[in-house]
Amino acid sequence: MLQLPLQRFLACLRRESLGLLEIGLPSVCLLCRQSLTRPGTFCSTCLHEMRPVTSPRCPRCDLPFAALDGSDHLCQPCTLLPPPFLWARSAGLYQDSLRRAVQRLKFQGDFNLDRPLAGLMRSVLQQSLEAYEADLLVPVPLFRRRLRRRGFNQALLLARALRLEGLPVAARLLRRVRDTAPQSGLKAIQRRQNLRGAFEMERSLRGERVLLLDDVMTTGATARECSRVLLAGGAGAVAVAVLARASLHG
Ligand SMILES: [Zn+2]
Ligand SMILES: [Zn+2]
Repeated sequence: MLQLPLQRFLACLRRESLGLLEIGLPSVCLLCRQSLTRPGTFCSTCLHEMRPVTSPRCPRCDLPFAALDGSDHLCQPCTLLPPPFLWARSAGLYQDSLRRAVQRLKFQGDFNLDRPLAGLMRSVLQQSLEAYEADLLVPVPLFRRRLRRRGFNQALLLARALRLEGLPVAARLLRRVRDTAPQSGLKAIQRRQNLRGAFEMERSLRGERVLLLDDVMTTGATARECSRVLLAGGAGAVAVAVLARASLHG
C-alpha cells in the first residue's frame, strides 16, 4: 500500500530533476553536495529520505497517523473544531532531507532550492490543485521585521516558483500586522490564541477561490487563522498547499 504513492513521489522528483538539466545545474546534490551520477538536483540518498504523507492521514489537514494501515479519517483537532479551509495537502513529511531542504531555503537563503521544491509540490499536489480550480495564490506573509532580517519570504519564493498556469500570486493581499511569539512549544489552542489579530487583508475579495501557500504546517494554527481572515474578507473558499507536513508524533 505504501509502495505506490512513494514510487510516484520519487518519479516526480526525478522528473523535476531532469527538467532542470537545461539550466545547467552542477552535478552535485543540492543538499549534501555528493557527486551525482547524472546531473540533477538531489542524490538518491536524499531523494529516498523525502517521504510523502501516506494513508492513514486526516483528509482535512493532511496529518499523518502513527498507525501503518487503516483508512483515512478526521483527526481529533479537525473533529473538535473543523478548520475554515476546505483541505490542506503537503508535498512530503517534514523530516530528514526535506526538513534540511526547508531549513536551507529558509534560514540560509539557498535559492537553488526554491524551484526543485516548488516542482515537488506541483507534482505531488497536481490532482488536488486541478480539482480545486483556484483563482489566487496567496503566500502566508511574514511580519515586516522578520522579513527585513531574513530578506525574503520563503512562502512567496515557493509561490512564485510554483508557476501554476494562469494563477496570479497575490503577494501583498494578506499582511502580518502583529509579530507573534514563537509558536514552538505552544499547544494547538495557545497557538491559535497567539495568532489572533496577526493578519489583515489589504483589500477585500469577491468570492475568489484562494490557494494559501506555506512552507511547513505543524498544528495548522497559521493556516486556520489566515483562512479565517481570508473568508471574512470575501474569499469564496480557501485550500492550503504546504511543502512539508510536520507529524505531531515525531
Ligand atoms: Zn544528497
Ligand atoms: Zn485533521
